[in-house]
Amino acid sequence: MQELTSLTTLCASLCKCMGVEPPEHADKANDAFVNDITGGKLVDKVVMYNPDAVGTWIVNKFAEKFVPVRETAPYELKMRTVFPPKTPVCFASMYTGALPAVHGIQKYVKPVVKIDTIFDALLRQGKKPAIVASKNSSLNHIFREREMDYYVVAYDKEATEKGIELIKEGKYDFLVIYNQEYDDSIHFTHPKSWKAKRALDHYAENFKRIGEAVAATGERTLLGYGPDHGVHREWYLLGNHGKDIPKDMEISHFYRVYN
Ligand SMILES: [Zn+2]
Repeated sequence: MQELTSLTTLCASLCKCMGVEPPEHADKANDAFVNDITGGKLVDKVVMYNPDAVGTWIVNKFAEKFVPVRETAPYELKMRTVFPPKTPVCFASMYTGALPAVHGIQKYVKPVVKIDTIFDALLRQGKKPAIVASKNSSLNHIFREREMDYYVVAYDKEATEKGIELIKEGKYDFLVIYNQEYDDSIHFTHPKSWKAKRALDHYAENFKRIGEAVAATGERTLLGYGPDHGVHREWYLLGNHGKDIPKDMEISHFYRVYN
């Protein structure tokens, strides 16, 4: 079986798409992905929609729920996330390109990441990043203390509205929009519950609307649907994540360059 590309390659890949020098500890870029998605022409902006906890097996199991996702961003990039597959651990690796032992978050804790991140790399090169996330989310905490804008919102709907508003205003070069309903749902139900499946639909609807906003700007923008880790169902029947198993570790991202 072919080994999956590590999530740690994404950070330098996103930088390469923008022509930005990657952060200090970032793993090397996935050049095949960069070339395929950009066709060798840099993008001016990146919008990353980060829906929490969508694993590759869920994308395959509920393929019909990913039709709008694939229509918005058809390029599927399969990767292996980092261990342990917990939200702050994975997002720290996604945006530093470094393994947990290097960025320092190795369990479910939300300290500010002290090593070089993509946000620092962007700022050094005069680019403007911003993060839109809910109050208690990992993404609202771990990349603080940078000279950038942080938008704190109530939940997914508000994150999506704020994200779309910021895309229309056009003042950011790298925008992160976080959604969490699927992860929240699986912890008090399970990965295939009615509530969880509805959350997947909400992710798809939100991503589609974000895609439409990006398309309407006319600016050359890389749009990504980028989850952090997958999920599985425990013997006690609730959903969970944190194990070194394919259901938790294998993730699918979706990308497209607009305009
Ligand atoms: Zn998560």
